[in-house]
Amino acid sequence: MKPGVAAPGMAARLGSTVDERRGVEYRELKSKDLLNRFNGRPMPFGWTVNPYRGCEMACRYCFARYTHDFLGLNDPRAFERTIYVKDADRARLVAELRRARRSGQVIALGTATDPYQPAEAKFEVTRRVLEAAREVPGLSLSITTKSTLVARDAQLLRQVGATSEVTVNLSVTTADPALARRLEPRAPRPDLRFAAMRALAEVGVASRLFIMPILPLLTDSEPNLRALLIAARDAGAVGAESNVLFLRPGTRETFFEFLATDFPRLVPEYSRLYAGSAYVPSGRAREIDERVRRLAAAVGLATRRRADRPDQRAPRQLNLSW
Ligand code: SF4
Repeated sequence: MKPGVAAPGMAARLGSTVDERRGVEYRELKSKDLLNRFNGRPMPFGWTVNPYRGCEMACRYCFARYTHDFLGLNDPRAFERTIYVKDADRARLVAELRRARRSGQVIALGTATDPYQPAEAKFEVTRRVLEAAREVPGLSLSITTKSTLVARDAQLLRQVGATSEVTVNLSVTTADPALARRLEPRAPRPDLRFAAMRALAEVGVASRLFIMPILPLLTDSEPNLRALLIAARDAGAVGAESNVLFLRPGTRETFFEFLATDFPRLVPEYSRLYAGSAYVPSGRAREIDERVRRLAAAVGLATRRRADRPDQRAPRQLNLSW
């Protein structure tokens, strides 16, 4: 892939600007399918839906940053400032959901970028996916978000959940609003995310706390993890799941730049932890995992690690394209 040049097949999909606000430009992304068969590492879903490319919530650690390179947008800020919006034809969505249902596999919304990011308030692509899902009973859906906007769809999710399995994964990394503002500059405050979780529980929609990612030395302390687990339990979460930060190229540079500015004292330790690898040493990851499990058991919340979820990889492997 050449810097500044869209990947083959992608250039023809890039449409014109459809809106501009708060310094963010929204552009159309033509897509044949909104649902994509997942082909990759063993994951607990067989299909992915990502209504938007890019995300203005701008989390410093966002692993999806590299995906803008495929659009020919290599400036790290473009991921937060140039958001692509997919089109969603209702009849086509229903047909795609029926096809996914035949596979019996979980359909995951928001595996790369947040389906309830600010763009959703205007474009409502995620809402249209759920409206289509309401017409297709027997689905298994999971939705992952950091946004309180998910509460807008509480009744719709309840209706989908009447004939399908639906779980909402609310991602919260820290209970400290000041730290959250630095790590996730344009995501809603942590307490507001828990309020959204409560609103879902009140209408019978199952939600789960995603502590993803856990950042060593920043959010992995016992008091922080305990506070998150208690808040989730009190908001009606059915369980919790966690994963330690990984830093792939495209994210690594942005994250280290952030550390150097906001937490310079942590740069040497992070350089050591992530030396030559996107992952922390396995012993460190295990130690954090065990801490989460112990604390969750103490507050009465079921936990599972990402690795514990059943592998739903499709028997026939197709490329991930979105
Ligand atoms: S909300 Fe999710 S997709 Fe958006 S920037 Fe944060 S981590 Fe990335």
